[in-house]
Parts: sequence; structure tokens; C-alpha cells
Amino acid sequence: MRLGMVIDLKKCIGCYGCAAACKAENATPPGVLWCRVVKVESGTYPQVRRISVPLQCNHCGDPECLKVCPTGATFKHENGIVDIDHELCVGCRYCMMACPYQARTFQHQVLGYFPGGLTPYEQRGYQRHQEGTVSKCNFCLPRLERGLEPACVANCMSRARIFGDLDDPTSEVARAIREKGAQPLYPELGTDPSIFYIAP
Ligand code: SF4
Ligand code: SF4
Ligand code: SF4
Repeated sequence: MRLGMVIDLKKCIGCYGCAAACKAENATPPGVLWCRVVKVESGTYPQVRRISVPLQCNHCGDPECLKVCPTGATFKHENGIVDIDHELCVGCRYCMMACPYQARTFQHQVLGYFPGGLTPYEQRGYQRHQEGTVSKCNFCLPRLERGLEPACVANCMSRARIFGDLDDPTSEVARAIREKGAQPLYPELGTDPSIFYIAP
């Protein structure tokens, strides 16, 4: 099994719903974005075009971040998810330098969003975050273990995201790659990403 995702840029309306759902699901502190949506403009006025491109960790088959981690904190699950053991992370940030997709964030301080202390939601959610360590998308592994889809997939109102097993030729995600010609971002970097994009 190798878990992966297809993001259909024809369907994405750039609403940031995935980024918001990721924050809500994972209680990431201010300044930490595991899911981003960037706007890309092309053309010359008046022939111009603006598209939205959601970005997150690609759960690479050959991840540069894993190779440079000196403590073994970055590791890969059997299902292909690249994860971080925060107990082993020493915050050296080598992985951030090595990741060509800028998918990782260093958590300087785990602060609340509001003055007056942490909300009950933050007190509970922040137990998953540790100051002085690096974090990133984990394909919502705790949700997968409960039989749920990743939050960004479940909450995409355009159904622009498909999640599943890349190794299963009958899965929706494998069929979308095959039939719609989905491609990873910058395959020439050689990290073998598990996220594929359908061209806009
Ligand atoms: S939620 Fe779906 S439509 Fe909205 S920005 Fe994310 S991928 Fe695009
Ligand atoms: S996108 Fe970056 S952080 Fe994610 S697995 Fe690939 S190299 Fe590692
Ligand atoms: S799979 Fe989960 S952790 Fe990763 S970007 Fe989507 S919502 Fe965030």
C-alpha cells in the first residue's frame, strides 16, 4: 500500500477550505500551516489567468527530509506516510533545508490565537505540538486510523481532492492519475511525490 492524493486544479476554486480544515483538525498554532493554497498568475494583460494550487507535504517515495535527519525523528510508515517523532526531533531543521517543497515548519513557540490564555480547544489540541521541533502534514493519520478521510479531502466543497492507495489500480486515486494524466509537482527533483495534480 502506498497512500497518495490527487488534487484537481480544474475543480479547485481557491477557497482555502482545505487549509482551514487542516488547522481545525490538527490544532496547528499560529504561523504553522501544514496545508497552504497559493495563487499563481500567468499571461500578460488583458490575457491573464489566476489559478489556485494547494500545497502540503508530498509524502515522497524517496524523501530528502528523511535522508538528512540525524536522529531518526523523520521516518516512513509502511503505508508510505512520512512522519515525525517529536520525541526524537532536536529542532536542527536540516529537514527543512532539504525539503524542496518547503512543506515543513519550525515551531518556535506554541502560542494561542487569542489574548487571555489558551482556549480549551487549544489546551487539548496543542498536546500534539512541541516547541522547538519541526512539523508537517501527516496525511491526517489519526483520522485514517478511525476510518476517516484526511480533513482537507472531506471538507473540500469542490471535491477537488481524491485520497487513496496509489498501488491499487482499481482505486479512485489511481484511476484519476491514469485517466486524467495527473502529474506530481517538479518530478525532476527526484523525490517521487505521492501527490498528483490534474492540470487546470
Ligand atoms: S478546499 Fe478544495 S476548492 Fe477549496 S482551496 Fe482547497 S482544494 Fe481548492
Ligand atoms: S515533501 Fe518534503 S517534507 Fe514531505 S516527504 Fe517530501 S521531502 Fe519530506
Ligand atoms: S492530509 Fe490532513 S494534515 Fe495533511 S494537509 Fe490535509 S488536512 Fe492537513
